[in-house]
Amino acid sequence: MTTTASRPAETLVRTPKVSPRDLPPDVFIDPETGGPSTVARKLALPEGVQPYTYRWHVIIAIALIHLAAIPAFLPQFFSWTGVALVPIGVYFFGCLGINLCYHRLLTHRGFVVPKWIEHAFAMLALCNLQGTPASWVAAHRRHHQHADHEPDPHSPLVHFLWGHILWLFVSNPHVDTKEGIEKYCVDLMRDPVYRSMENNRAWLLLYPLSALAIMAAGFGIGFWMTGTTAGAWQLSLSWLFWGVFVRTVVVWHITWSVNSITHMFGYRNYETGEDSRNNWLVAILSGGEGWHNNHHADQRSAAHGHKWWEIDPTYLTILFLRKTGIAKDLVQPRSWGQRKV
Ligand SMILES: [Zn+2]
Ligand SMILES: [Zn+2]
Repeated sequence: MTTTASRPAETLVRTPKVSPRDLPPDVFIDPETGGPSTVARKLALPEGVQPYTYRWHVIIAIALIHLAAIPAFLPQFFSWTGVALVPIGVYFFGCLGINLCYHRLLTHRGFVVPKWIEHAFAMLALCNLQGTPASWVAAHRRHHQHADHEPDPHSPLVHFLWGHILWLFVSNPHVDTKEGIEKYCVDLMRDPVYRSMENNRAWLLLYPLSALAIMAAGFGIGFWMTGTTAGAWQLSLSWLFWGVFVRTVVVWHITWSVNSITHMFGYRNYETGEDSRNNWLVAILSGGEGWHNNHHADQRSAAHGHKWWEIDPTYLTILFLRKTGIAKDLVQPRSWGQRKV
């Protein structure tokens, strides 16, 4: 599992005039004070990514889906129902798939659901083209283990675009090789469903299949509304561009913003030894993942909003699943007192 990123407050006390050679590997010289700090201001690229091995399949897929989203803005592909599919899809695929399943369930085991339901949520996550469960979890567990220190796969302290997107474009042997995944995902690799996804790429079919299902629904409703095949095709294509391509791009940038923006901008409730922040804008867009400093301080907690006003729709969904008897053993923030409910 992840190691805790919380460090005792005394490690942050800054004492001037210390040689970098005398410092442990996780401590840096703060350029402002000249003293040691566990919070680095500028990082080198993670060890292992140079010389670059470009992940062309990732670069091409990200470029193509961004290009495919552009026709959504042509009048012939516009529809208000298509636009509405974006927030609906962000919740359905992004919030339930990425936040609830990949992040809070698979990476941090903040609650428990029956295995077949966990797998169903993982299928939703796969429709976001963010990789297999194990590859996502491996990168994220390494991020927590070394947050904002050099081995962190995507710290924006290298530079903003590195943390947001560029880290995906080059291979990092610590997280995207068989060895890296096996090191960080011993638990997931015991599950034959997740293990099989590392050995064949059939899961990639879920994306076009989900797109076809959305198009078919658009065609049916379009025909019902207009009574013409032309009207059916117009709504079907509108739903494809808005409900699939635009939604995919939006979910990507929301997920990536948690890696980039919430390690740079926002406030901190906890001293965590890295630069994680709580950012209300990212929290609203992402359905609660923007309370990222809270999350780094208490990684297993299924709730990322710790104060009453830190609204966390993903946690509200988990609470709903508990009420229906589907989810149990929810890990709550330590600061709330009772740990499991
Ligand atoms: Zn983080
Ligand atoms: Zn996490």
